Amino acid sequence: MQPSRRIRPRRVAALVSVTALTFAVSTSAGTGHFTAGTSTVAGAGPISPEHPSALRPCMITGRPTIQMSEGVPTARGYSRSTGTVRALTVMVDFPDAPGPGRALDRFDEFFPQTQDWFRTSSYGRLDYRPETPISGWLRMPKSFRAYGIERGAPFDPGYRRLVQDIVVAADPKVDFREYDFLNVLVTPNAGPSALDTVLSVTFAGNTEAPVADGVSVANASFVYSRQDDGSGTYHRTGYRVLPHENGHVFGLPDLYTADGGAAVGHWDIMSEDWGANNDLLGWHKWKLGWLDGAQVRCAANPGTSEYALTPLAREGGPKLIFVPLSRRSGYALELRTREGNDESVCRPGVLIYKVDADVDTGMGPVKVEDSHEDSGGCTRSPNVHAELSDATYGPGEEFRDEERGVKVSVLGVDLAGSYRVRVERG
Ligand SMILES: [Zn+2]
Repeated sequence: MQPSRRIRPRRVAALVSVTALTFAVSTSAGTGHFTAGTSTVAGAGPISPEHPSALRPCMITGRPTIQMSEGVPTARGYSRSTGTVRALTVMVDFPDAPGPGRALDRFDEFFPQTQDWFRTSSYGRLDYRPETPISGWLRMPKSFRAYGIERGAPFDPGYRRLVQDIVVAADPKVDFREYDFLNVLVTPNAGPSALDTVLSVTFAGNTEAPVADGVSVANASFVYSRQDDGSGTYHRTGYRVLPHENGHVFGLPDLYTADGGAAVGHWDIMSEDWGANNDLLGWHKWKLGWLDGAQVRCAANPGTSEYALTPLAREGGPKLIFVPLSRRSGYALELRTREGNDESVCRPGVLIYKVDADVDTGMGPVKVEDSHEDSGGCTRSPNVHAELSDATYGPGEEFRDEERGVKVSVLGVDLAGSYRVRVERG
């Protein structure tokens, strides 16, 4: 069976308020997304990366109506994404779906892998601490059915009730002020199989969330049925839904669309979180504060410039070239190789993609440019979008956008694996 038929994308939903006005408007009926105004929530928010003035033209932003934008810097209201971050992690079960075995076995399905994934992807800049002050199953007072949780369910009323019940049940042992966000690892026997329906969801930047110990539970990821494709790799790859959901907690949008992974393929965990391990785009690493300003080059001016790129998975060196097209969008260039979290790269080279900060989560804010269109790709790895797996540009290859007067040439690779790239702008 084709993975595209078995794997249903999950949704991110954020509820945001503007002062007294609260709205959570469901858009485009089929998608289950929610729109809202600009977040005005106070609080930590991701730490902004350094922004030398040379990078300003590359700090694209979306209009305030965009719910979750690729823009830099990330809007406030999300969790910090650098330094030590504490994830309150609870294992939850229900009277009609009692947790099988030990709750800590459920925890072990996601850790330490999720922690390791973030350490590797962030070059050690994100120190992710999953904490379990409650080590057993946290039993909810109502049946799973009673919460009315289904795919695309909004925060009200079911999730609000669930979060309130978690807060009440956990409160004797938990001081919510000590944590940056909440992970709810639901017992895998609650709800449908993930092969049929993925329920996992994150409510991020949610200013209407219940308050616990004086702080709002504004960023919460919920993980349900195991993402086990039956290929025998669950113990290695099944955790990957959690770094995806936590990506939302840090402000990253969904990159899959109604067409599944066809826009970005396996080049970012916000696009595909089944199958072999993958990393984040360099754009996301900059957005999250894992790249310094000095590792990003902004090709804003007309003329010809040459740049070096070192493998994105390796710490240090230049990582990202951005060619802004407007205040809203531009092309990003980075070097992807098979190392670090990137397990399924079958054609190392320069990945070129368009980022549009004015396109909302799930609507295709990033589109990879395929150097080998209709090739069928180079991977046979299950649940890896094949067509874009050979999208990278190798030495001697060129990308052109005639209309915008942009030409990118990959000039060569040195012995250390660093690539040289020429950008020409009309
Ligand atoms: Zn998502």
